[in-house]
Amino acid sequence: MSIDSRQMAADAALFGNRFVTQEVPSREFPDTGMFAQDALHLVAEDLALEGDPARNLATFVTTWMEPEAQQIIAANLHRNFIDHAEYPRTAEIEQRCIRMLADLFHAPGETTGARTQGSSEAIMLGSLSLKWNWRKRREAAGASTSSPNLVFGGDVHVVWEKFCRYFDVEPRIVPLQPGKYTIGPDDVEPYIDENTIGVAAVLGTTFTGHKDDVVGINDLLLRIRAERGLDVPMHVDAASGGFVWPFLYPHSEWDFRLEQVRSINVSGHKFGLVYPGIGWLIFRETADLAKELVFEENYLGKTDSTFTLNFSTGSAMVLAQYYNFVRYGRAGYTYIMQNMQTNARVLAEKLAAMGRFEIIGAGEEQLPLVAFRLAEETGYDEFDIAWQLSAERGWMVPAYTLPPNAQDVTIMRALVKETMSREQVDTLARDIDEACATLAKKGGVHESERNRILTGPGH
Ligand SMILES: *Cc1c(COP(=O)(O)O)cnc(C)c1O
Repeated sequence: MSIDSRQMAADAALFGNRFVTQEVPSREFPDTGMFAQDALHLVAEDLALEGDPARNLATFVTTWMEPEAQQIIAANLHRNFIDHAEYPRTAEIEQRCIRMLADLFHAPGETTGARTQGSSEAIMLGSLSLKWNWRKRREAAGASTSSPNLVFGGDVHVVWEKFCRYFDVEPRIVPLQPGKYTIGPDDVEPYIDENTIGVAAVLGTTFTGHKDDVVGINDLLLRIRAERGLDVPMHVDAASGGFVWPFLYPHSEWDFRLEQVRSINVSGHKFGLVYPGIGWLIFRETADLAKELVFEENYLGKTDSTFTLNFSTGSAMVLAQYYNFVRYGRAGYTYIMQNMQTNARVLAEKLAAMGRFEIIGAGEEQLPLVAFRLAEETGYDEFDIAWQLSAERGWMVPAYTLPPNAQDVTIMRALVKETMSREQVDTLARDIDEACATLAKKGGVHESERNRILTGPGH
């Protein structure tokens, strides 16, 4: 045995493998492989340094599913969703999910939709349909189709600007204001003209968890239709809110109960309570989907129609979504959402009782989260608290500035998920209090350092 292989054998006998003492492959494509056990260790040891998803209060995305759901996921990782001819039951289950969501969102009759990778793909597809339908309206009127625009608030997710840039549409962004973090009809009206392909409204913003005034914007669009003959459709970005409002606020109207709401996206992997990789796009009526965007293709001996940006993708999350729908039903989702809301309210009360924080829009319809900020100037700021909390206790609670013209407002946001018990809420509140006490003693980050952080990526 060479020294090297003796060393390897010794390492393996005592702990781990040769990568305990050697650098892992990271640049060159490896010449030879390794034992399966070694590869497993290598990857697992790298991931041991990741944050703990249970303390990740930054993400809207699901971090826990039931063992039975995981069983379905594990058993279906080898099925390509797009092979409808080979896996017709999976295709049928997708259609069931679309019909159930259309029902949940009060579609007036039979309609259509699509499974997507997430809300981003759903928003790209929904907006493309808005653009195609606008172009048809303009062509029918013999009018120019050269400069489409899309109207939305500064409170939207980055995907809306991405759509505009990728697909050549002028973004008309309604600025926010200090103290007003959603948009309504008066904000939107000046931006609308005959080249507006649609208005996008958000149900549950990523910034504070509130909703745009969807009812007010619908009324405005109805008035514009009656007075100016412009039929401007609305798309509701319900990435998070689409699985929250129907259960916490069933009588609050934001969906197809409102006439100008023509399409809705929702992320199955957020409050649909499925692991990442699933979103949905639902149209009000079949006619709202521009049929030119649907490809009829002859593949593997069967004609199939597809309306997607991606082709191959997994089946597992579609099946997991259907599992959740039948497992929970309206009653189950309502129970889970109410628990999260209850715990979010307890957290908000505890933060308010500390006297340091202002809670943002606590009495309004909101996602189960707490958005808060320091009530007055101190020697430290929200970014310091986020850093201290993570360093001391491993909680991931982000701090961020709002979009223009509220860019001077810094907010912290804690998602209260299904797995966050009352005990954990109490612990988090105590940890935030202690982080503030530590910061009060040692002070925040130096001003120049803070400027570096603030102008860094993500702001
Ligand atoms: C998360 C989110 C998106 C993007 O959704 P993905 O499912 O992550 O692609 C878009 N809009 C809003 C309001 C969101 O919260």
